[in-house]
Amino acid sequence: MSETYPWPDGHRAGLCVTFDFDGESPLLWRRRNDPPGEVAELEQRRYGPRRGVHTLLETLENTGVRATFFVPGTIAHTHRTAVAEIHAAGHELALHGWCHEPPTDLDAGELRDTLTRSADLLAEISGVRPTGYRSPSFRMSPEAFETLASLGLVYDSSVMGDDRPYLVGDLVEIPVDWATDDAVYYRYTGGGETRAPYGAGALYDAWRDELAGARAAGSLVNLTMHPWQSGRPARALRLRRLLAEAKEHGDVWIGTAGELAAHHRDRGVRAAGTLDVPLETLGWPL
Ligand SMILES: [Zn+2]
Repeated sequence: MSETYPWPDGHRAGLCVTFDFDGESPLLWRRRNDPPGEVAELEQRRYGPRRGVHTLLETLENTGVRATFFVPGTIAHTHRTAVAEIHAAGHELALHGWCHEPPTDLDAGELRDTLTRSADLLAEISGVRPTGYRSPSFRMSPEAFETLASLGLVYDSSVMGDDRPYLVGDLVEIPVDWATDDAVYYRYTGGGETRAPYGAGALYDAWRDELAGARAAGSLVNLTMHPWQSGRPARALRLRRLLAEAKEHGDVWIGTAGELAAHHRDRGVRAAGTLDVPLETLGWPL
């Protein structure tokens, strides 16, 4: 597994910039049976679709980077104009449940129905049918991979089994990493049981290290961000600086998760020593 991954156009490493455009949907799903009688976290999360996403679209435009937005169906329904703007700016739209339901909370029929409904809506808004999926909260099951493939999707971006694209069953996996998830640094909704967020500078420093590591190893940095967290002005400034530096390096391929998945599938890059994980080996080993 020491072969260099064949990044497009001879680049040394890869960078995907992705956003989980969650808004309030995770809270709506989590508290679906006992809705809270207060608005604090709802309002904190609604900052994303109201304000944060627009700040981030400006950041992407300023740096010339195209990103992937994983959009729950209910957010596309409620914030249709913002989702249309994302598409019009050249970014990719992909699936993220209807109301941020992890596949582990659903049976196969429910997963199929929620994703079909979401794909229909994103296609209606953008004219393009999504080819990828990210599971809410990165929670996946072996059966979910089968369902995604049966829906004709090309890729998943939810698990962490390698640091470059690989195959899980019939799907291309564009792997994620907690180290490059903004929630680890920024997610704070009050209460004494969780810590206060790190500053934007701490995350910027950590992600610069991740980029240096990827350039040394020839691997992927898959940034996972949330507009309600990373869309705050000081944080967007640090992101802008990070993306500008990644471009300046000149040896980092930067593109959408869908483009990378198509590259992996179409170029037959398994020959370069990438992983091919059969579905039957994916679950609990008993
Ligand atoms: Zn999410």
